[in-house]
Amino acid sequence: MATSKNTSKERSVGLDLKNGTKSRVKKVIDVSIVIPVFDEQENIDLLSSRLLKVMNATGKKYEIIFVDDGSKDATPKKLRNLFKKQPNVIRVITFNGNYGQYVAILAGFEHVRGDVVVTLDADLQNPPEEIPNLLKKIDEGYDLVGGYRAKRHDSFFRTYASKIVNSIRAGATGLEMRDHGCMLRAYKKFIIDEVVKTRETSTFITALAQKFAGNPIDVPVTHEERAAGGSKYNLYKLIRIAFDLLTGFSLVPLQVFTIIGMLISSASGIYFLVELFKKVIGHHHGYGLHFAFVFLLLSVLILGVGLLGEYLGRAYFAVCEHPRFVIREILEKKD
Ligand code: UDP
Ligand code: MG
Repeated sequence: MATSKNTSKERSVGLDLKNGTKSRVKKVIDVSIVIPVFDEQENIDLLSSRLLKVMNATGKKYEIIFVDDGSKDATPKKLRNLFKKQPNVIRVITFNGNYGQYVAILAGFEHVRGDVVVTLDADLQNPPEEIPNLLKKIDEGYDLVGGYRAKRHDSFFRTYASKIVNSIRAGATGLEMRDHGCMLRAYKKFIIDEVVKTRETSTFITALAQKFAGNPIDVPVTHEERAAGGSKYNLYKLIRIAFDLLTGFSLVPLQVFTIIGMLISSASGIYFLVELFKKVIGHHHGYGLHFAFVFLLLSVLILGVGLLGEYLGRAYFAVCEHPRFVIREILEKKD
């Protein structure tokens, strides 16, 4: 299906020819590349030309799945043109709105046909030229190859925010994974199938994949400055990621919170007894300490309610079976 250098296998999935039934030869795809895109009009052309060049040189059969995450600029038009030019390798999934990078990747995962799945950012921060290195590691027998950005080219804020998120993730999950935010990764298909089955929507899909992998490896990859445009992450989105990471994987935060609650209520019990004693012996002055104590209790309470809300929200969406995303259109050549 995909490349001019066609060295890969073709697997017959047809019915028996001798019985006169029509045989259908399904072309097997070696590599599916999934790219989430949100307002990346300046980067699509350069990205696709570099990517096509790299992939054609591998001699593997491949498909590139762009997931347009509700772009408002000329991205949809650019992707449509690209599909028209290269219908054999390009597929475009278009959402009806903006659902976030990880949901876009997940939608791509639901449609992949390749034996190996590679994820990549659209802004060329992950050079496509690194893909053959990842595929080589997969050929060596690893089932997940995670890139880590040896030297980051991001703003100070973005780099440190990401470092904090990485350490929260390490603490909450205990997973050995160098750089959760680096999207240049390659997976064997079975891992992707498992991730899709979980129906997860959070940023935890990379960590989940890591959990399902039997033989993962981290490799250093180069990281470049964004080719054009600005980061699509603002402070709110980064805080959402930290929350997703905390609550998406375990009930530990809830348990920690319960323990803190218990400790504070015992401390406040003792405090109350002390105050009562002071009152009895006539040593009771001022209310400052009391207020401080009440504020502390209130803040813990509010935090706890928020935390409970996170879990409740997750359960609510799961029970209601809300769609995680709505696809407006899929451009692909029918086999
Ligand atoms: N992205 C997306 N939806 C969003 C935000 C980002 O699909 O809501 C895509 C974006 O187009 C890019 C990738 O996710 O391909 C990474 O985004 P960005 O470069 O803004 O993140 P950063 O490099 O700052 O982590
Ligand atoms: Mg980027």
